[in-house]
Amino acid sequence: QQSHDQLHVIFFPFPAPGHMLPMIDTARLFAKHGVNVTIITTRANALTFQKTIDSDFNSGYSIKTQLIQFPSAQVGLPDNVENIKDVTSFEMFGKIGHGLWMLQDPIEVLFHDLQPDCIVTDMMYPWTVDSAAKLGIPRIYYSSSSYFSNCAAHFIRKYRPQDNSVSDTQKFTIPGLPHIIEMNPLQIPDWLRTNNFVATYFEPIFESEKRSYGTLYNSFHELESDYEKLSSTTMGIKSWSVGPVSAWINKDDEKKANRGHMELSIGEESELINWLNSKPNESVLYVSFGSLTRLSHQQIVELAYGLENAGQNFIWVVREKDKDVDGEDFLHDFEERMKQSKRGYIIWNWAPQLLILDHPSTGGIVTHCGWNSTLESLNSSLPMITWPMFNEQFFNEKLLVDVLKIGVPVGTIVNKFWFEIGEEALVRREEIVKTVGILMGSGQESKEMRMRAKKLGDASKRTIEEGGHSYNSLIQLIDELKSLKKSKALGEKE
Ligand code: UDP
Repeated sequence: QQSHDQLHVIFFPFPAPGHMLPMIDTARLFAKHGVNVTIITTRANALTFQKTIDSDFNSGYSIKTQLIQFPSAQVGLPDNVENIKDVTSFEMFGKIGHGLWMLQDPIEVLFHDLQPDCIVTDMMYPWTVDSAAKLGIPRIYYSSSSYFSNCAAHFIRKYRPQDNSVSDTQKFTIPGLPHIIEMNPLQIPDWLRTNNFVATYFEPIFESEKRSYGTLYNSFHELESDYEKLSSTTMGIKSWSVGPVSAWINKDDEKKANRGHMELSIGEESELINWLNSKPNESVLYVSFGSLTRLSHQQIVELAYGLENAGQNFIWVVREKDKDVDGEDFLHDFEERMKQSKRGYIIWNWAPQLLILDHPSTGGIVTHCGWNSTLESLNSSLPMITWPMFNEQFFNEKLLVDVLKIGVPVGTIVNKFWFEIGEEALVRREEIVKTVGILMGSGQESKEMRMRAKKLGDASKRTIEEGGHSYNSLIQLIDELKSLKKSKALGEKE
């Protein structure tokens, strides 16, 4: 039951799984710490988490979803296409983006009716900083990535090399960072290097961060304290590190299988668990590229042979969409062969990732370096084979490989959206066999990476316990918002 004094916070997530999942986790954490929470989203997106919110509500927490209509018809999209994971072209991307901009008026009406004390909105909604100003309340900018990648992006933008002064092959060092981080220019999102149309889309986002009350990070102090500090000292950004939120919210939850709401049936889940149980400790490699990326048929073939030839147990998440092309027979045959040998396990479409990463038989991950997968693997103390594909994933790779030293790079250099990537980014089977050998082998390098990953995993588990950094940071933020609410109420009385 909502009381008048209770802090009311609205969360407005961006419709891509990698943005929504952590924000919903964070919203639930707020509710579990006594805040009255409203999540605003569209119907198709709400379906992916509503059951969890209802269950929290029924357990006595003050949390609910408020639906808003996505203007599908006006932007020329079919009904129910409301999530970035459905995007297959720049044109579609533009349409969803346009639809989201059109939500500004109806959302401001909602804000006005709901009278929140604060809004926590995804970084992709720069206009919400003005919406908050109209109500005289703080807007908190929700970052969907690491301090490290945000700092790297900041300094690259600031000292943007002239378009023609950097060759595509010559490595350069990112200025301003406390570590020497060398990158190939092709690994950097082009909108940070040049003034293309994506850059004009991102400019207001960067501006809005500076004008926001502060930034909420799904990260933790012990993981990237240098960059946490850099973000506040050099860039002047006030922030709170409250992650890893997925580990925190699922801490007391035995069943991590239904995240993202594509639940396995009980039969499918026990088949997977039995398979994992039958394998020795730390012997299974989990292979996943997140929620958006797609692999070409040729890449699927290389990866399949790479995994088979590497001789290591593995679980591989493959998209149903990747099957349609000419690859259907190939993947079907491969799956059958792996079933026979009991060496490989294919999961179609959506895996219960947290469940797999936490299983003692899992010993490593091949990852696209999405920030959520990175944190989840870290929390499970897993070393990684890094295979970034687009956007800030290449920065996260540098954090894992060069700073934390728990990653083996597979060597990708082409940074392109999943719907425009071509054969130029192909990773050959020999490279896969080699990196799997290094990561999962018994060599010194693997031992040392495993030790470092274990330390980080321990720190990650500690930071969300009572008295830990992330724990305190969340409590501090909530307290601060409560004082702001109080002084605003006093101000209005006078
Ligand atoms: N995820 C999952 N099952 C899958 C694929 C992804 O549960 O089969 C979850 C994963 O645990 C993570 C999120 O989806 O929380 C993906 O976010 P990430 O930042 O790793 O990558 P993105 O999808 O944004 O590229």
